[in-house]
Amino acid sequence: MTTRSSCESCGMPIESGRYCEYCTDESGALQSFDQRFGRMAAWQTRRDPEASEQDIERQVLDYMATMPAWRNHPRVQAR
Ligand SMILES: [Zn+2]
Repeated sequence: MTTRSSCESCGMPIESGRYCEYCTDESGALQSFDQRFGRMAAWQTRRDPEASEQDIERQVLDYMATMPAWRNHPRVQAR
């Protein structure tokens, strides 16, 4: 039986550890909030090209609020 977990930063299923390869730098450390926010905003913009910049920002912050790595971040708390 394999225990699968999910990345605490983006929710992607991973085999082990706390974060997926996309959320970490070369040393395995979690990337900064701004790096992750930028990536997720770009991804969300591709999914929903009609959305305004404010809508994208809100959607990304709402999503990050569900992630253990980010839910206590000041930017997420302040949304
Ligand atoms: Zn991740």
